[in-house]
Amino acid sequence: MENSLILNQPSIIWRAIAFVAIVCLCLVVLDGWRSWNARSFELAEMNIAASNLARAMAQQADDTFKEADTALLGIVERVQHDGTGPVALKRLHDVLVMRQQELTQLAGLFVYDENGIWIVNSTSTPLDRFNNSDREYFKFHRLHADLGPHIGVPVISRSSGKWIVPVSRRINKPDGSFSGVVLATIDIDFFKAFYSTLQIGNAGAVALVLNSGVMLIRRPFDVNVIGKNMRGTQLYRHYTTQGPTGTAFIKSAQDGVTRLNSYRSLQHYPVFVAAALSKDEILHEWWRDTIWHAAGVLCLVIVVGLFGWHLIKQIELRTTAEAELTKTHASLEKVNRTLEQLAMQDGLTGLANRRQFDVTLQSEFNRATRHASSLALIMLDVDFFKQYNDIYGHAAGDECLRTVGGLVMDLTARRPGDLAARYGGEEIAVLLPNAGVSDAVAIANDICDAIRGLEIEHAGNPVGFVTISAGVDAQVPIRGASEPTELMLAADRALYEAKKNGRNRVLAASDNRPSSTTV
Ligand code: GH3
Ligand code: MG
Ligand code: MG
Repeated sequence: MENSLILNQPSIIWRAIAFVAIVCLCLVVLDGWRSWNARSFELAEMNIAASNLARAMAQQADDTFKEADTALLGIVERVQHDGTGPVALKRLHDVLVMRQQELTQLAGLFVYDENGIWIVNSTSTPLDRFNNSDREYFKFHRLHADLGPHIGVPVISRSSGKWIVPVSRRINKPDGSFSGVVLATIDIDFFKAFYSTLQIGNAGAVALVLNSGVMLIRRPFDVNVIGKNMRGTQLYRHYTTQGPTGTAFIKSAQDGVTRLNSYRSLQHYPVFVAAALSKDEILHEWWRDTIWHAAGVLCLVIVVGLFGWHLIKQIELRTTAEAELTKTHASLEKVNRTLEQLAMQDGLTGLANRRQFDVTLQSEFNRATRHASSLALIMLDVDFFKQYNDIYGHAAGDECLRTVGGLVMDLTARRPGDLAARYGGEEIAVLLPNAGVSDAVAIANDICDAIRGLEIEHAGNPVGFVTISAGVDAQVPIRGASEPTELMLAADRALYEAKKNGRNRVLAASDNRPSSTTV
């Protein structure tokens, strides 16, 4: 038990350490998981917000271009139908002025002839002041027979000096040849005003870009990016390869900020918009939350760790104390057993002492009475021992007694119940349960022969060696009628008779006849 406790001690401590470690790990993992989910949720929310923003921007831009384009379509129809005579142009001028007033996004409406000369416009600027045949949109329509709308690269208006986006259509002669261009210019400030109202944080960005990669406008506003080529940027590559709508984390080519970009092409025009929210801003709240949580979990882990450490120390102390207590208990038991043994043992010979003999005699006698079995007793005594002491000294006498005792023990301890005891002085008693007289006599003779066979010199003994005499008796006790003392007395009497009959012999009480021959 002591060993198992000592062996178990480290295992209990390790289990306690493992428990504390698992609890701490669970806290960290659970918070990490919660935090990761919160991050994913935040990003998903922002994804939706950016997509909605892009959708709104695309719708606004589409409507803006559509309105301008619808006006252009009407003008084309009117020019082709009414011609460009002075009356028609006067009426057309009024229509253009009216249209421009209706549509706030318009900087101006213009009609050019096939040489790029202004025929009519929505302003009061003299008609022959500018020739726009060098403009990109003019060249485009001159070269392309397509009658659809064209959104050109942004330019600074020659009439107003402002940045404008040109939306134009080709005018054909009745034979289908090029007859001029009708142009609506959209004030870039119109988009700027709308984009300024969008809630995109401090580091957010929005952009309106031609499908050809030319930037129309971007917030944060910078006049230098208007008309800039975007073809090399990651955003443009995404747009051209991933489809008309999409979302991606992109590091801006303009300012190096990583943003969640949601881009979307316009429904009717070759233009796309991009709404981008700064990743740092999106995750700012989440970071703050995560840091607070992490600090909380850290405190909790420290508290659990300290508590666990304290607990482990307590377990350690307790198990050590228990182990020591068990050890002390075991050694006390051992001492007790030794003391008990010493109390029942003869110090000189190692045989049972008189006390043990008396107790065993009584218990064996009782048992023999109960089972009606035979109990035998041998009483033996060293012959002429007084002389041995006198001749060889008391120490030699002790040594002789030790030898005799050892030999008796060897020869009698063959069955579990047998008991050899130093009865007193140089007298030894041997108790043999379940043995009859003849068995006991045989054993006594063996002892007698063996001691004589040792040939321990004894000048005071006529034989010349140490010999013993033995008296034997055996009884089947009768309940109420027999006493252990009777067995003792009978064996003792037999011993006396053996001494009287010349010693070095064994006599049984029953017949007083010698059972072994003397040498
Ligand atoms: P007998 O043959 O009749 O037995 O003669 P004996 O001399 O042996 O006579 P007895 O049995 O009366 O002698 C007992 C002697 O044993 C007395 C004592 O000197 C000696 N003796 C008793 N106990 C011890 C002991 O513990 N050590 C030693 N050395 N001698 C002992
Ligand atoms: Mg004696
Ligand atoms: Mg004697």
